[in-house]
Amino acid sequence: MAKVISGKEVSAKVRAEVKTECEQLKAQGIIPGLAVIIVGDDPASRVYVNNKKKACAEVGFVSEEYALPAETTQEELLALVEKLNNKPEINGILCQLPLPKHLDEKAVINAISPLKDVDAFHPSNVGKIMIGDYHFLPCTPAGVMELVHSEGIEVSGKNCVVIGRSNIVGKPMAMLLLHENGTVTICHSRTKNLKEICQSADILVAAVGKPKFVKADMVKEGAVVLDVGINRDENGKLCGDVDYQEVEPKASYITPVPGGVGPMTIAMLMKNTLKAAKIQNGVK
Ligand code: NDP
Repeated sequence: MAKVISGKEVSAKVRAEVKTECEQLKAQGIIPGLAVIIVGDDPASRVYVNNKKKACAEVGFVSEEYALPAETTQEELLALVEKLNNKPEINGILCQLPLPKHLDEKAVINAISPLKDVDAFHPSNVGKIMIGDYHFLPCTPAGVMELVHSEGIEVSGKNCVVIGRSNIVGKPMAMLLLHENGTVTICHSRTKNLKEICQSADILVAAVGKPKFVKADMVKEGAVVLDVGINRDENGKLCGDVDYQEVEPKASYITPVPGGVGPMTIAMLMKNTLKAAKIQNGVK
């Protein structure tokens, strides 16, 4: 039987720590501020944005929402980013992705000031993560590491396999494991012998975007299994990339979906926004 790592509990602890630090900043006259831009009316994006606003209120941040119509032009969007870059009360800016197809996501990410890029998607922040000298870590992989640390799981020297190589999850995830001296293999849709590679993992991270993709025969006895996926199963029920029922008895630790990595992402966003406010106000 695996120990279930509760993202609900760990994320609540992270948010409580951020709240305490936020109160200390407020005593110095600093209120961290996060601006969230949402373009169009994608229902999933709307849910994410509402959750981010709720989390801001809970920890004591100011949040500003910029809900723009789907037909917003690239120029209008870039002008808003520029305005927020120059607004002192705003310490973090995030643009909810995906954007409508006519907009250039890369250009928008590049336009956000790296010091306010609390998603850590700007190329300058990505480069900093690569060399291990960073202000902000991308929220989802950082959340996974927080879960690993919460259980005192040692990464050094372990075989770590990450399934998925997206810029948002897979690649930075691999980098964070490498920074902690894991021996890291990144798998993707062209990987040969995926099953055998996964079987070698002491720590297995699934970021594939396919419901119940990781089966028991892909998992080594006693492995730590971290499930980033957020999918719907054949009955429309929320599920991860790992077949939890099958894999749980083999793993030593496992994250559930929901209630695992998901809640960590927003908690780490709060942490990044707090850090941004400190940096921009010269607070150590
Ligand atoms: P992407 O679709 O961008 O990436 C999926 C990756 O999986 C790709 O690298 C792809 O390979 C790889 N892949 C697809 N099929 C296979 C296969 N058969 N074998 C091996 N590898 C495969 O997804 P994201 O990284 O953005 O997200 C992954 C999952 O995490 C999704 O379920 C998403 O909803 C969830 N997510 C959860 C978050 C959270 O807060 N918990 C935050 C962000 C994402 P290739 O590159 O070759 O195409």
